[in-house]
Amino acid sequence: MSKSSRGKRVRHLGPDWTVQQVAKRSLSGDETEPCSQCGTPVVLREPHHRVDVARDVDLMGRRLRSEHQQLTFCDADCADDWLGR
Ligand SMILES: [Zn+2]
Repeated sequence: MSKSSRGKRVRHLGPDWTVQQVAKRSLSGDETEPCSQCGTPVVLREPHHRVDVARDVDLMGRRLRSEHQQLTFCDADCADDWLGR
């Protein structure tokens, strides 16, 4: 995983989405989320990879705010595969 992912465009989400951060994290709680690449359920309490993406929301020709989204991946390989799509 290289830091050069930051700022990379994520065209499969939409034209304006870019990567903000790729990080290994573990969260509190008992929830699972499907890996965005392979669909395997990821236990959020256990270390896994998260990719933060954001886009500027443009309304009436003015940049109003950033919209953020966090995606869950089981490991660095899935995150890399997804980013390289
Ligand atoms: Zn996966």
